[in-house]
Amino acid sequence: MSVDSQKTFYLETFGCQMNVHDSEKVVGTLVNEGYRQVETVEEAGLVLYNTCSIRDKAEQKVFNRLNDYKKYQKQGKRFGVLGCVAQQEGEKIFERAPHVSLVCGSASYRNLPQMLEQLETARPAEHASFDEASSRSPAFSPAGRGISRAASPSTLVRITGLDDRETDECFETEFTARTNPHRGYITIIEGCDKFCAYCVVPFTRGKERSRTSDSVLAEARQMADLGYTEIQLLGQNVNSYKDPAGKPGGKKTFAELLAAVGEVPGIRRVRFTTSHPRDFGRDIIDAIDAVPALCDHVHLPVQSGSNRVLNAMQRLYTREQYLERIAWMKAAKRDISITSDMIVGFPGETEEDFADTLSLLDKVGYDSVFTFKYSPRPNTPSLALEDAIPDEEKARRLEVLMTRQKEIQIIRYKKYIGTISEVMVEGKNEARGQWIGRTSQNKTLNFTAPNSSAPKVGTYVSVRATVSFPNSLLGEMVV
Ligand code: SAM
Ligand code: SF4
Repeated sequence: MSVDSQKTFYLETFGCQMNVHDSEKVVGTLVNEGYRQVETVEEAGLVLYNTCSIRDKAEQKVFNRLNDYKKYQKQGKRFGVLGCVAQQEGEKIFERAPHVSLVCGSASYRNLPQMLEQLETARPAEHASFDEASSRSPAFSPAGRGISRAASPSTLVRITGLDDRETDECFETEFTARTNPHRGYITIIEGCDKFCAYCVVPFTRGKERSRTSDSVLAEARQMADLGYTEIQLLGQNVNSYKDPAGKPGGKKTFAELLAAVGEVPGIRRVRFTTSHPRDFGRDIIDAIDAVPALCDHVHLPVQSGSNRVLNAMQRLYTREQYLERIAWMKAAKRDISITSDMIVGFPGETEEDFADTLSLLDKVGYDSVFTFKYSPRPNTPSLALEDAIPDEEKARRLEVLMTRQKEIQIIRYKKYIGTISEVMVEGKNEARGQWIGRTSQNKTLNFTAPNSSAPKVGTYVSVRATVSFPNSLLGEMVV
């Protein structure tokens, strides 16, 4: 079997929403090159892993996966590593997993067609050449882009209304194959300049660079024309957005861009993630209050409740400044749901520091928190600090944090019983006979509906919550 004759690929994605969206770009590019996506490794000529290196465990998973399927190389299958691990490890991957033939960092997806061409003509033992320069530093040449609703060549749509000179300097591919026909991602900013002590992102995603607001809005309008009603704006720090538009008076702040996307005809919901506390201004809250399409949910990762740890993490804000932003949200006209990320066991975190993190949980009353054990990462400043907190102690702190947060969520979710919310219908759990719904606050609100009024996936219906759980609500459709 050769990739040339087979032209089928399997793609598995690890990590965050940015990676999920990158995979949509990779699928769009491959489908445009005549490849067909398949569901299993066994069916594929080309097996791709879009990787995450945020924590050591995520990175290990990829190498385990490569190891598991090494046996298939004999059948002529080719293996490729994409994304953050590819960006971080580069050609070292060929040494660690010699059956890999393609390594393409997240900065180089636009080069995929050329890399695939090289691969198609290569002998089995050869690999596609790794373009060190374009993969290790941000690719700055402008590119056209396209979007599609599904991963099939017949529905691949290219945006034609964009002037290349007006497009941004983000990592762009010509085509994107979005899998969900109702809600989709748009990248507005890539990379990160913050260099938090523990984080590998500035080394894998490169310098911060924003897309022009004109380009973002053009894509939002195209999506609305295709029937999308929900858009999620993506970036490592969306609110560090700086519009590079050259037109005088044409530049938009992040809050203005949010509002403008929310005003695109046909768009009913706009989400954004992730926001950095340091760049989080009141104008974002004002925009949420003013534009109904902006969802009443803010994900604002705090990482720690201790000023000493925040300082060691180089987070660039204090607990007090963070709580000031929370106070703005709580003073908003709309009931804004607040969620966060937290790390336990950062080098030097004492019991007292950890107690500060727990007290912050109580003070804020988050609707959800992603909790992580500190994981030392290559190149990061905290690698120089002794990772002295034993894994069992990190695990204990994580457990305490999760238990406390669960107690908070039980109370928070209960208060929605009896309230009516609009949900987007995301599907049906046939076994339970329940529809799956998501509220503007990003809460899961599953519901029952009479057969005579069964809703369509992708539509919006009103649901009265009747039962609460720590992570979701259950209710009845209001007919
Ligand atoms: N830019 C966002 C911010 O500043 O909050 C975060 C993006 S990062 C991809 C997602 C989350 O991964 C972080 O908020 C942090 O909690 C977690 N994370 C990053 N590096 C980590 C590490 N070395 N160990 C444990 N968790 C980590
Ligand atoms: Fe990583 Fe910090 Fe940048 Fe977020 S702000 S991506 S945590 S370096």
